[in-house]
Amino acid sequence: KPVITDMKTLTQEIEKFAEGKKIEIDTLKIREEYRKDFLGNVSHELKTPLFTVQGYILTLLDGAMKDKKLREKYLQRASKGVERLIYIVKDLDLITKLEVGGLKLEREDFDIIELIQNVFDLLEMKAAQKDITLTFDMEYQDSIYVNADREKIQQVVSNLLVNSIKYGHPNGTTEVSIENLIKNKVIIRVTDNGEGIPKEHIPRLFERFYRVDQSGSRSEGGSGLGLSIVKHIIEAHGEKIYVESEVDVGSEFSFTLEKTENNAS
Ligand code: ADP
Repeated sequence: KPVITDMKTLTQEIEKFAEGKKIEIDTLKIREEYRKDFLGNVSHELKTPLFTVQGYILTLLDGAMKDKKLREKYLQRASKGVERLIYIVKDLDLITKLEVGGLKLEREDFDIIELIQNVFDLLEMKAAQKDITLTFDMEYQDSIYVNADREKIQQVVSNLLVNSIKYGHPNGTTEVSIENLIKNKVIIRVTDNGEGIPKEHIPRLFERFYRVDQSGSRSEGGSGLGLSIVKHIIEAHGEKIYVESEVDVGSEFSFTLEKTENNAS
């Protein structure tokens, strides 16, 4: 390093050094805030299902066990609570990996139409329980090959569809459509005619743990992580996600993917 001989350069050097330290301290502070915030949210999310499960177990121990019908009912509910806990922990695991950048994409060429059809099959029952019809508009194409991480894109499609069922009106419809965009891109849209999202909430939807109904009292509670997972995955692919929504009209979530060169069309 050259020796500094003039005062001006020395001052500049000191300022640069101090500035560097300040930035470091700021990042540390943000990280610390993030950590506290994250832990606070996690314990809050876990509390509700844990108390529910505990409640059913205590009721069983308190005598409900002797009644065959009650026993079955409460065990079913306790099991549902545990199932929910498992979902939350899985989502937490995934979001942590995504946020610390420890999750590598495993790209491959696959047919996105086939993948969407698979997700439809998996969610058919869930949709039927709410009398929601799932429809698929693929513009008369049999297959569209994209290059992406298949498993993660399946998670994206599944999270968006699950939401459209959760926040859809009974007897409603969810439509998935695929459209070719310019420059070897496709756009996949998931559209529902459900409850919609008030404008003021839209900018914060993709934050982790963010919910329009913050009370968490609704039966349809997920982990509040679904959309932040979706956004992370899409952005890790270098793609974009969009949302349009209107209260009582419905919502549309859409994202882009890169097509591979070996497509017929
Ligand atoms: P959650 O586990 O609460 O569903 P998400 O991150 O998946 O968490 O979604 C965040 C919030 O966005 C939801 O709580 C809900 O208020 C709103 N939301 C998501 N998808 C839809 C949709 N299709 N229609 C209406 N609201 C939605």
